[in-house]
Amino acid sequence: MSSVQDIEECPQCGFTEAIYELNTRTLEEWLSCPLCGYWSALRALVDRKRQAADPQRRPFYKKTASGHLIHRRITRAGFGVLYVAYARMGVQRRFTHPPTPELISEIVAGLKADPEVIFDHCYITTWDVDEFRVNGAKELRGAKELRSVLGELPEAECTVEDPALAFELEQ
Ligand SMILES: [Zn+2]
Repeated sequence: MSSVQDIEECPQCGFTEAIYELNTRTLEEWLSCPLCGYWSALRALVDRKRQAADPQRRPFYKKTASGHLIHRRITRAGFGVLYVAYARMGVQRRFTHPPTPELISEIVAGLKADPEVIFDHCYITTWDVDEFRVNGAKELRGAKELRSVLGELPEAECTVEDPALAFELEQ
């Protein structure tokens, strides 16, 4: 694997152990916050047509005339996180919209009913923001404190057991 992992401060909520990963070959990078769900990535553009035509579906990266990869930044605001703890690992999911109280009740009931889940180690956070558009660009307004609606939040020294899982939803 040509990737390096590290921790960085989350630009949205300030958590000091957001998970950072850098692919040293493609110079792609990811930052994912296990507390508020902020997510940002620098991705190398892939030629989808060439990839689809390749029997092994290898990624063919788009390049500039001088042979450099072309990167694009993608950033998603954190609306909160659901962390589901199992005996040997944990799975982190980001909310893509502010979760409603009904959705949270549903999730909590689901966690309680699942015998594989270690309920006491799960957590849910929410971050109250309104998303709106100015001249077509996404803006956020009304960011308040991060709220914990279930469980104990990780301390700064805690880490998500398998950071790759945090990125899974966005691939
Ligand atoms: Zn954060």
